[in-house]
Amino acid sequence: MRKKIVAGNWKCNTTVQEGVELAKAVTELVDKSGVKDVVVVLGTPFTHITSVVSAVDTNLIDVAAQNCATEAKGAFTGEVSAAMVKSTGATHVILGHSERREYYGETSEILNKKVALALANGLSPIYCCGEALAIREANEQNAYVKTQLEETIFNLSAEDFAKLSIAYEPIWAIGTGVTASTAQAQEMLAFIRSLIAAKFGKAVAEETSILYGGSCNAKNAPELFSQPDIDGGLIGGASLKAEDFLGIITAY
Ligand code: PGA
Repeated sequence: MRKKIVAGNWKCNTTVQEGVELAKAVTELVDKSGVKDVVVVLGTPFTHITSVVSAVDTNLIDVAAQNCATEAKGAFTGEVSAAMVKSTGATHVILGHSERREYYGETSEILNKKVALALANGLSPIYCCGEALAIREANEQNAYVKTQLEETIFNLSAEDFAKLSIAYEPIWAIGTGVTASTAQAQEMLAFIRSLIAAKFGKAVAEETSILYGGSCNAKNAPELFSQPDIDGGLIGGASLKAEDFLGIITAY
């Protein structure tokens, strides 16, 4: 059985103090809810990770960075390496988010390096992919996502590939309130799984957790998560309030 994952992506929100309060509130609600079979991840800003790791019960909650450097270490002012992220107690790192690709020029070549360093340092990447609206309107989303995967993570060994999860986030659904329909999400995630099967074999494909992201909330999560290929969600806005986030975690 592959893992169900609900990962929050706080983006550039909350102070450290607010983040710690949020993380504590999530821990308490997850604990009370008795949910055991969902991997709950909090994707916090770099500055928050150490404090959040200390504030949560790490048996219940995993912590992720939202990025890491392309280089292992050295004279790269302002960068945070995968080894540094790992040393905070974080277990995951979100890589390839469309906001990073769009606003910070993250190319496939850059993502290749980041994914490799994350894996080499024992972090589990949550690798994001997804198309813009114009590509969806032209019905070219499958070819687009296939290229993203081929250029960035299909060069990995099957052993390394098995350590990551994938989040499909159509750009037109991120922060817009427009969710992909359940059918659109299921169709794309099944397509991604078929690509993994063709590249790495059926066993790896069956074990890879593939998440949906984009305006996912407690209301639409139950239907999305009922689909055979949707193994959870990457949650932006709705991860910033503990009750909203719990509503998604308990949607299974
Ligand atoms: P959203 O963001 O849930 O606010 O749409 C999702 C994401 O960007 O990961």
